[in-house]
Amino acid sequence: MTSDNDVALRVRALESLLLEKGLVEAPAIDEIIDLFENRLGPQNGAKVIARAWSDPDFKARLLANATDAIVEMGYEAVQGEDMVVVENTAQVHNIVVCTLCSCFPWATLGLPPVWYKSAPYRARAASDPRGVLAEFGTDIAAEAEVRVWDSNAELRYMVLPERPAGSESLDEEALVALVTRDSMIGVTRALNP
Ligand code: FE
Repeated sequence: MTSDNDVALRVRALESLLLEKGLVEAPAIDEIIDLFENRLGPQNGAKVIARAWSDPDFKARLLANATDAIVEMGYEAVQGEDMVVVENTAQVHNIVVCTLCSCFPWATLGLPPVWYKSAPYRARAASDPRGVLAEFGTDIAAEAEVRVWDSNAELRYMVLPERPAGSESLDEEALVALVTRDSMIGVTRALNP
């Protein structure tokens, strides 16, 4: 088992070696660290979802062509992937997995959580999605349909969670706080206000 400390040491050693050999330049490394620490992450996805809840025209554009609608909000794909957003309703609950590895929409959700990359999640999200959802505390009505979306290198999925009851009076900015990373993967619902 490798500890976080070992990883940090190895990364530092690798960084100095790359710099020493002139394979990368320090500003490029700073740029990448800033990208992952500050500019990518579920705070972006939450703003996309809150906009979709508040603006029916944006929601229509998001469901029709998520790649363009997300770029419209200023979030560009990091790996050139296309985005598809699937909408949760009372009748349909969507859940996202990458059965092959860990493909994830970095621009809007950041880096994938450890459990998303784990073999049990990757296998069971596909074979027993209701069981996985139950483990996340998400009960799905027996008559509702559960749809599983398998992300890959070219195409990444994000869930548009149901807007929670009781959030009718909230503005877009307040709605952002109700949207969690896990709700955009589909394993949980958005928070109640
Ligand atoms: Fe993958």
